[in-house]
Amino acid sequence: MSTLAPVSITHWCRNCNAHHALQQVRRCVPAPTSLNGEVDVLICPSCNSYDIEELQEVSDAQ
Ligand SMILES: [Zn+2]
Repeated sequence: MSTLAPVSITHWCRNCNAHHALQQVRRCVPAPTSLNGEVDVLICPSCNSYDIEELQEVSDAQ
């Protein structure tokens, strides 16, 4: 399997200083207190930190 979809790095982990795409850090978790029954949270796939910051300036260049 191959994923050819372009990935833009838009999020930064303040804990381990790694950069990730939104799809890498976004997790859907059950939240019984939420109206939808679930919420989106941002978790670093490298260190499992919740300290994720969204980058304001996004460059297409690698
Ligand atoms: Zn991290």
